[in-house]
Amino acid sequence: MKSTEPYLLTPGPLTTSLSVKKAMMYDWGSWDSDFRAMTYELRKRLLKILNNKTGTFECIPIQGSGTYAVEAMLSSLVSPSEKVLVLANGAYGVRAAQILKYLDRPFTIIDKGDYSPPRSIDIKTAIDLDPDITHVFVVHCETSSGILNPINEISEVTASMGRKLLIDSMSAFGAINPSSQIEFDALASSANKCLEGVPGFGYVFVKRDTILVSKGKSTSLSLDLYEQWNTMESSGQWRFTPPTHVVAAFLEALDLYEKEGGLKARKKRYEKNRDTLVTGMRQLGFQTLLRSEWLSPVIVTFLCPGHPSFDFTLFYEHMKHNGFIIYPGKLTTIDSFRIGCIGAIDDCVMRKVIEAVKSALIKMGIADGSP
Ligand SMILES: *Cc1c(COP(=O)(O)O)cnc(C)c1O
Repeated sequence: MKSTEPYLLTPGPLTTSLSVKKAMMYDWGSWDSDFRAMTYELRKRLLKILNNKTGTFECIPIQGSGTYAVEAMLSSLVSPSEKVLVLANGAYGVRAAQILKYLDRPFTIIDKGDYSPPRSIDIKTAIDLDPDITHVFVVHCETSSGILNPINEISEVTASMGRKLLIDSMSAFGAINPSSQIEFDALASSANKCLEGVPGFGYVFVKRDTILVSKGKSTSLSLDLYEQWNTMESSGQWRFTPPTHVVAAFLEALDLYEKEGGLKARKKRYEKNRDTLVTGMRQLGFQTLLRSEWLSPVIVTFLCPGHPSFDFTLFYEHMKHNGFIIYPGKLTTIDSFRIGCIGAIDDCVMRKVIEAVKSALIKMGIADGSP
């Protein structure tokens, strides 16, 4: 590993452990029984992390980035005669609507703007007005602002109205899981977020009852979850070339996850990262976009300093020079930037992040980070 390798505070991809990278130094044959055993193990262990005690869910991995998994979920579980209510409060909700448009699936969208959370009354009103709605789609942690959306509340109203809930839990699953009372039909996530693998595949948890009736729904060959599931069940194989090295790295990442203490420990480390980050940044005068109650332990959006000498490009370069890659903001109306809390990093790293931000302000001649 290059000693100059920067920390990726940009989930994801995110910073992975050395042993995860090392697990990729071997070429597996996709058809071979060793690799089929790895795929079996992967699916079994993911279901365990979901806490699939009642055996209600199936785990279906799919090649590609996280968006491929979301697209596979929407294409394979929603038929052209059904209709999706998309709850959007950021880029990933809007992307789901865009996917549905491409797929030619009926949908309606509630767009709450850059960061306001969707609430149960929004959903109730929308379904009352449009009873054709069969599914509700929600983003668990909307990574474009960092908000943790209230999926308990959303799941409650969706279930009480007899609709099905589809969750994009890309950036939350593994650190923040839906509690056992949350009713949902499918949930999508990917290898390179809170489980700290490298990018290359996503996975969708689907209720067995739902996948069983989904044959022929998909309008995409490669993203057909039913066929992927059916092939994995019958032959243990992926339908097309699997990301063999990524799967191997992911199994190592799952070992590290278990050693750390699983869901609780992972969440705790990320929360500590966030708290160290937010406290340090607030001490420097920075303001978070969201009130503390909505801040996820995944990524935090900060408002850009109002000082006329602040220049995001200079700031970014300074942070990079100090070993940290950060994200620009993704808001439509406010100047902002984002710093991720997930990946193989701890609060010691976060303290160094604060030091780097402090020196960047000094370099730009800015007394404090207030907007
Ligand atoms: C990362 C992410 C995705 C998937 O993005 P890709 O770039 O396709 O991996 C989808 N939804 C959310 C909320 C995400 O954070």
